[in-house]
Amino acid sequence: MTILFHDTISDSHFPSTSHPEHPSRVQTAWKHLDGLGLTNACKKGIASPASLEQIARVHTDGTIKRAQETCARGGGYLDADTPVEPRSLSAALWGAGTGIAAVDQVLTGNDRNAFCLIRPPGHHATRSQSMGFCLFNNIAVAAQHAIDHHELRRVLIVDWDVHHGNGTQDIFYGDDRVLFFSMHRHPFYPGSGLSSETGTGDGLGYTVNLPIDVQRTGDEILSQFKQRLDRSAQAFEPELVLISAGFDAHHRDPIGGLRIDEEHFRHFLDFVLDVGDEYAGGKVVSMLEGGYNVGVLAECVADHVQGLLQRSLKTGSLKD
Ligand SMILES: [Zn+2]
Repeated sequence: MTILFHDTISDSHFPSTSHPEHPSRVQTAWKHLDGLGLTNACKKGIASPASLEQIARVHTDGTIKRAQETCARGGGYLDADTPVEPRSLSAALWGAGTGIAAVDQVLTGNDRNAFCLIRPPGHHATRSQSMGFCLFNNIAVAAQHAIDHHELRRVLIVDWDVHHGNGTQDIFYGDDRVLFFSMHRHPFYPGSGLSSETGTGDGLGYTVNLPIDVQRTGDEILSQFKQRLDRSAQAFEPELVLISAGFDAHHRDPIGGLRIDEEHFRHFLDFVLDVGDEYAGGKVVSMLEGGYNVGVLAECVADHVQGLLQRSLKTGSLKD
C-alpha cells in the first residue's frame, strides 16, 4: 500500500496572499485526490511535528532561532522570498515531521512507499539559511533521520524540482551516506547546480547535478535523467530512495517551466520506482516541493500518487 500524508496544519502558513507558495496549492491537490478516490485508496499516514533536536541535525541553531524569533514577533522575512507569520513555525515543523514519520513507516512496516503532501517546501533551506520559500529542509531532515535512527548507510535523494536543491546539496555536500541527484533548469534560481559541483571530502562524487538548458525538449530531458540516474544508482546501490517532488518544471508553471508535461513526470517517477525496486526493496518516500500552477499541480500530484499506488499494489506488501 501507499501511505499518504496530509494535515490541514500546512494551511496555517499563509504569510501573504500575493505569494505564489500559498495554501490552495495543497488544498486543491488534496481535493482532487479525494475526488478521484485516492485518499481512500491509500493508507492514511499519521505524523507529528519534528522536534527542534531533529531539525538541529541538519540546521544550525541560528537558523532555527531566526525562524522561531521571527514567527514569535508576529512575522517577517527569513530571506527576500521567504515571509513567515506566527503560525508558520508549526506548519514547518509538521512538514519536517511528516518526512520522519514516512521514513519510519516505510522502513519498519509492510508498506513500500509514501507521499507527503506538505508545505512549506524545503529543498532550498541550507544548513544555515532558510530561503526560497523554504524554512527547514524537510527531505534533509528525513534523510538524516534514516541515517541516525535506522542506521542506513546509503540514502538516495532524487530532486526533479525545476530549481536546484541547493539546500539539500549544501547539507550533504561532504557526506558519502547521501547521494544527492538533482535535475534542474540552469541557469536559473538559485544559481547553483553546475555539473562540476560534485561534493567535497568524503562526499566527493556523491552530489550529481544535471543542469538543463531551457531549450531542451521533455523527451530529451527524460532520456538524460534516466541515463544519469541509472549510472549513479548502480554505483551507489541505495537502501532508501527519497524524492524531492517539485512539479514546477511543467510547461504551464508560472515560475519555472521546462518543456515537461504530466506524462514526463510520471516517467520520472516510474524510473525512480524502478531504482527503488532494484536496490531498496521498493522503499521510496516522496515529498512535495514546488509547483505553482494550482490546477496543474493537482493533476501532477494525482498522477504521482496513482503511480506510487499502482507500484505498491503490483509488488504487494513486503511480507507477501
Ligand atoms: Zn522549485
